[in-house]
Amino acid sequence: MATKTKKQAFDWQLAPAPESKDHFTLKSEYDLFIGGKWVKPKSGKYFDTINPANEQKIARIAEANQADVDAAVKAARKAYDNVWSKMPAAERAKYIYRIARLLQEKARQFAVVESMDGGKAIRESRDVDVPLAAAHFFYYAGWADKLGYAFPGKTPSALGVAGQIIPWNFPLLMAAWKIAPALACGNTVVLKPAETTPLTSLLLAELIQEAELPDGVVNIITGAGATGAALVNHPGIDKIAFTGSTGVGKLIQKSIAGTGKKATLELGGKAANIIFADATIDQAVEGIINGIYFNQGHVCCAGSRLFVEEGVHDEVIRKLKHRMRSLVVGDPLDKNTDIGAINSKEQLGTINKYLKVGVADGAEMYQPACELPSKGFWCRPTLFLNVAQSARIAQEEIFGPVLAVQTFRTVDEVIQKANNTLYGLSAGVWTDKGSKIFNLTSKLRAGVIWANTYNKFDPTSPFGGYKESGYGREGGLHGLSAYLNLS
Ligand code: ADP
Repeated sequence: MATKTKKQAFDWQLAPAPESKDHFTLKSEYDLFIGGKWVKPKSGKYFDTINPANEQKIARIAEANQADVDAAVKAARKAYDNVWSKMPAAERAKYIYRIARLLQEKARQFAVVESMDGGKAIRESRDVDVPLAAAHFFYYAGWADKLGYAFPGKTPSALGVAGQIIPWNFPLLMAAWKIAPALACGNTVVLKPAETTPLTSLLLAELIQEAELPDGVVNIITGAGATGAALVNHPGIDKIAFTGSTGVGKLIQKSIAGTGKKATLELGGKAANIIFADATIDQAVEGIINGIYFNQGHVCCAGSRLFVEEGVHDEVIRKLKHRMRSLVVGDPLDKNTDIGAINSKEQLGTINKYLKVGVADGAEMYQPACELPSKGFWCRPTLFLNVAQSARIAQEEIFGPVLAVQTFRTVDEVIQKANNTLYGLSAGVWTDKGSKIFNLTSKLRAGVIWANTYNKFDPTSPFGGYKESGYGREGGLHGLSAYLNLS
């Protein structure tokens, strides 16, 4: 793939610009990271993690069962009781800073492995995922010895052991979002990455060893849903932090009901990206592209519903299609790639099902005619026009590079349409008028609203949803409070 010159839907061609993989070696088999040591899974079972861009196996990954989960939770409890909760906060901070610095040192390796294991374009993992992950560790390291100032008049204390379950769309970044605030607040953790993208969490475990964190403060166990469920149901867990599908989020909520376990749930989304006629259209078109197509639409806050004010509909769609034709779909390790591989065969099946549903529901589908690699899991950037408000592609989360377009005439109409969803994670507003932005931000039921930009993240800014998008916030002071008792 990397050796072939790319032919895009545009006339010009791009020479291959692959990121090198020769500056690190991966192990062929990864065990569980429990109590500061690499231990074999008690069942002896392993599963493969593959590269979704070429379907080749990268490594064998241990499958943790209930007994392994129990060992990990016990290791975390022991580390909490004996070491981490007793350590002066300024000392805890030093370890977290060390993780942040080591992550920066190894940034290239983490970016390449993230793209190999998950399929995302190297430009994203290099410029977004890895730097933001390091920034989260830096940010929360700074808070570790200042918790009293963060919540004046309160006495913050750690919760204990946190069980953390993360998805496959931002594997390293989600691990950082979960681990950094938990450690800063004095908790110890057991983290389970998604089964299709375990590698950067396992590299993070190696990095944590190198940072000489006390044994058991961070435990990383691998496996699929059953491993996650065992973690959620373990009686030794004080808090569950979960990012993933709304379906699993509901299951988790049910299973922890009445247990006293705290939870933060960051679930699905169906964000409205709203373009007013007075917006800078070229900038808005770039924001639409960034909002839904980059990272293959594997983003819970993806701007998957586009609302265009009627008067500029034709112009927006013409410019959008033109820009879509220039998007490079292909080798995730190529620095020119805009849209990498779909994370798994299963997810590609889900996206393809929705493409059929969209057409069957009467929407008009547009895809640029870009070539796709012969192996691996791929989806062209897709636009659906004339989408009914009730259409499934306008209501359900697809988690792929698929945009459903609707129009509006008035502010009230677009607010009503944008809010007419089970989700409430994020939204985008594009307009020249500050007053319109303030009007909409107060009326849209979404946890995060971007104005004249999209998909921008910062560790200081809280992130989380309303309605079926979950509850609790990650990032900023809100993200700290999620890991503290505040009396
Ligand atoms: P997605 O649809 O994005 O794959 P999931 O919610 O299925 O999202 O997966 C997110 C994370 O939750 C993964 O780490 C997965 O292994 C885990 N998981 C799946 N099922 C369960 C479950 N029943 N209990 C706990 N964790 C689960």
